[in-house]
Amino acid sequence: MIVYNMKCGEGHAFEAWFASSAEYEEKAAEHALACPECGDTRVAKGLSAPRVNGSAKAPAPAIGPCGMACGSSGGMCGLDG
Ligand SMILES: [Zn+2]
Repeated sequence: MIVYNMKCGEGHAFEAWFASSAEYEEKAAEHALACPECGDTRVAKGLSAPRVNGSAKAPAPAIGPCGMACGSSGGMCGLDG
């Protein structure tokens, strides 16, 4: 699930949940999004970054004794042989 901070043409702020950013794009294109306060369909995505469940973690590079990232066959630091 993904939540967006939305704002309508009248200035009402509200949150809207979607299964994915693609679902948001789809509903936005069809003007199927309406403000719960006034029903205005002229809604826009707010400035806040969306909260997404789950996060990808990039693998950390191998750090040699010198503190630099070294390859397995001869590092840049020259401390490994
Ligand atoms: Zn509104």
